[in-house]
Amino acid sequence: MDEKKKIVVVGSGQDPGKLVEQLAREEAAKLEELGTGRKLLVVPDERLRQKSKPVEKIDDYVKELAQFLLDQLAQTKSWGMAACQYGEMVRLIVVSVRGLDRVFVNPEFVSKSAQTRIVSEACRSIPGKNFMVRRPKIVKIRGLGLDGKTHSLRGRDVLAQVLCHEMDHLDGVLLDETEKYTRAPLVSGRMHEGRHRIEI
Ligand SMILES: [Zn+2]
Repeated sequence: MDEKKKIVVVGSGQDPGKLVEQLAREEAAKLEELGTGRKLLVVPDERLRQKSKPVEKIDDYVKELAQFLLDQLAQTKSWGMAACQYGEMVRLIVVSVRGLDRVFVNPEFVSKSAQTRIVSEACRSIPGKNFMVRRPKIVKIRGLGLDGKTHSLRGRDVLAQVLCHEMDHLDGVLLDETEKYTRAPLVSGRMHEGRHRIEI
């Protein structure tokens, strides 16, 4: 065994310094591949129904992941995205608000208005389907930014809808489930379609 290892090292014909350099480059290439290899998960991928874990530390991995999601947001012209939609099961969401990109790590609701709206909503992870869901008219969330400080955001109407949608993703709740919950108390069939269909 030892003999084999020795042959590999000696046989490489490189000095140890260069070998280390080469291994570091290979490692970096692998990491890059991982970064670009993320794919949007779609149903029935079970990971979409799982609860994401809290982020323990805002390190380079979290920053890279946030940047990746922001890039996806820009490319797809989406309002928001959750890390778990790309198979990264951590509590991180990004939202695009009036041209400003915001990152929330370990976000939580601060408040939800009692007043609700029933709106049409779609999700990139459930291609080609629309759902009618009940959403609070106004919500406020707070979470950590990449600077490690606590930030909050208040959203009304469509922005409240986007924030709720992304927060649901972190708990593994998809629109089909939200729709069931919405329909339950509305047996009289008073459902009506919102004016705008949004895909989040
Ligand atoms: Zn979604």
